[in-house]
Amino acid sequence: MSDNCLFCKIINGQIPAAKLYEDDDILAFADISPQAPTHFLVIPKKHLSGPGAATQADEALIGRLMRVGADLAKGRGVEHFRFVVNNGAEAGQTVFHFHLHVLGGRPMAWPPG
Ligand code: AMP
Ligand code: ZN
Repeated sequence: MSDNCLFCKIINGQIPAAKLYEDDDILAFADISPQAPTHFLVIPKKHLSGPGAATQADEALIGRLMRVGADLAKGRGVEHFRFVVNNGAEAGQTVFHFHLHVLGGRPMAWPPG
């Protein structure tokens, strides 16, 4: 838990979210400003500012984010999806709590903007 972290507040129930999945370590919820027909976020309950702050101790947790994200997408019939993780403001990060974006349901361009 980090003070004034938006996603920590979602984890502890201070701010509502449309939850898709929750267990002891992970929470998934709909992105409030979806950029694709399917767009949700998968986050660790442990506050980590982003992948740049992860240590070896976080490897299994980060792996689980991707596995859970893929299962949730497939469970919604979305077989083709994109994972995005922004690290740092210049990379587009606006919420400084690690989050895996899962986007799908439309064709995706490359390179990303
Ligand atoms: P990023 O720019 O990678 O840090 O992504 C932050 C994401 O959080 C954006 O896609 C926002 O739309 C999303 N977001 C911000 N506030 C909320 C909220 N209260 N509930 C759900 N998603 C949010
Ligand atoms: Zn946090």
